[in-house]
Amino acid sequence: MKEINILWFKKDLRIFDNEALCEAKKDHKILPIYIIELDIWSQNTHSFRQWGFCKESLIDLRNELTEIGQPLIIRTGNVINIFDEISSKFKIKGIYSHQETGDWLTYKRDQKVREWALRKNIMWKEFLQFSVFRGNLDRNNWSKKWQKNNEKNLIKAPLRIESINFDIGEIPPDKIFSFKQESCPGRLEGGRKKGLERMHYFFNKKLNFYSQDISSPEKSFDSCSRLSPYISWGCISLREIFYRADIYKNNNSRMLKSRLTWHCHFIQKLETEPELEFKEFHPYFQDIRTNNNELLYLWSIGKTGFPFIDACMRSLNFNGWINFRIRAMLMSFASYNLWLPWQESGSELARKFIDYEPGIHWNQCQMQSGTTSINTNRIYNPIKQGKDHDPQGDFIKKWVPELKDISESFIHEPWLLNKFNKEEYTKLNYIKPIVDIPNSTKKARNMLKEITQKDGYWEISKKIYLKHGSRKRKTINKKINSNKIKKERDIQYELKLEL
Ligand SMILES: Cc1cc2nc3c(=O)[nH]c(=O)nc-3n(C[C@H](O)[C@H](O)[C@H](O)COP(=O)(O)OP(=O)(O)OC[C@H]3O[C@@H](n4cnc5c(N)ncnc54)[C@H](O)[C@@H]3O)c2cc1C
Repeated sequence: MKEINILWFKKDLRIFDNEALCEAKKDHKILPIYIIELDIWSQNTHSFRQWGFCKESLIDLRNELTEIGQPLIIRTGNVINIFDEISSKFKIKGIYSHQETGDWLTYKRDQKVREWALRKNIMWKEFLQFSVFRGNLDRNNWSKKWQKNNEKNLIKAPLRIESINFDIGEIPPDKIFSFKQESCPGRLEGGRKKGLERMHYFFNKKLNFYSQDISSPEKSFDSCSRLSPYISWGCISLREIFYRADIYKNNNSRMLKSRLTWHCHFIQKLETEPELEFKEFHPYFQDIRTNNNELLYLWSIGKTGFPFIDACMRSLNFNGWINFRIRAMLMSFASYNLWLPWQESGSELARKFIDYEPGIHWNQCQMQSGTTSINTNRIYNPIKQGKDHDPQGDFIKKWVPELKDISESFIHEPWLLNKFNKEEYTKLNYIKPIVDIPNSTKKARNMLKEITQKDGYWEISKKIYLKHGSRKRKTINKKINSNKIKKERDIQYELKLEL
């Protein structure tokens, strides 16, 4: 039997700066493969729009690999069954891949693959995709380790790999997936070529506007890098973007680099404690919220009666991407005002994002729901956010046509029209607010405060901080590490109400 190394592509769909590829081709022929795992794709966090992006990235990767000698092999099914099929035709010397910092299922899948490889006496070598580390990790050293890994040189793509005699397989038809085939007309196209185009456009034309436009729902669409889906699917390596940002020594590039660091900081938490995908950081916040399918549905389709929330949600549904502040506001509204469990609203949001990245996503969902106990809680006021980031209501009018004729004075609070022009209000074909903002905000704030006053709360919180907390925010850290925990608890976790 011919000896080969399997090069197992997962969410690292590129040949440039790909350490696994570089190492795999050193001593044997390589069999580059991507496996479509239907159990993973059928999770309620996955969607047709993500598959669309992934499919385009696979086509691009297959073309790149074909150009250097061996097309990408594609199979659908269970990884171990497919590796068994390969081992019946070749002698597998090693499996080379990046470490997947994914979700609970990919974590469990990797454990099974490891057992299989051990049983078969096949070496499985994994390389770091991001600066996220497995095993016992001392949080105090994380920054240093991150830095060291980030400073490694970029790896050139090989000029040639030897071809292998094995059926390359086809990309399966969309109908094999269980998700609804909804459209997402505004989403970015997948693949490294498109990712590089976006990256060059951002650095050449938009970097100077980055910090000033980052929170505007309209302007951020062009001025944010929107590289997140290319990072999540691995079409571009994080290091590659970092190197590029390093060329420009200004505040905008520094701001971008700090966000690229957050990327790994958040994923590290889920890597250290994979259960955080389902369970609260702090156990005292478990099961405090109530399912309500009707509210969840109205929020998800952008029919809450709050114009800025609805405009943002409809824009996200159309484009598969929205900026950080808006994501935080949408989540805050679902968790505090609608009091929905973050697991439910978080899954809805995950499906909408073409950049769904479990480590960032579930951390952020918990942060914006106040369940971590180690972050400042922010309850966003959607009316204030609308007035700040869409003062004339142009974005609202674009996405909520029901309000296109309403005057600027009422665009953020159409219900006020009832007081001044009853006739116009009765004609308005727009849903009435589904919740009372001041009351629901107050209730949420009191609920969280009550929980922080329960016996033992701060002791648990301190342990959470030691395991997961960022060591960069010195003032908060000092307070958490001080012995005066009880006395300081109110300022430490002050609830910021943006009313
Ligand atoms: C509730 C919620 C859910 C989120 N879910 C995801 C998700 O599934 N996938 C995802 O990539 N991001 C997620 N984010 C973080 C952030 O909103 C996006 O990374 C960012 O909006 C992507 O746009 P961009 O590429 O233009 O970012 P830029 O501002 O151009 O930043 C460049 C890169 O830095 C990283 N980054 C930026 N902001 C953050 C952040 N706050 N936390 C961690 N990394 C960051 C991303 O990799 C991003 O692509 C979420 C935020 C919230 C509040």
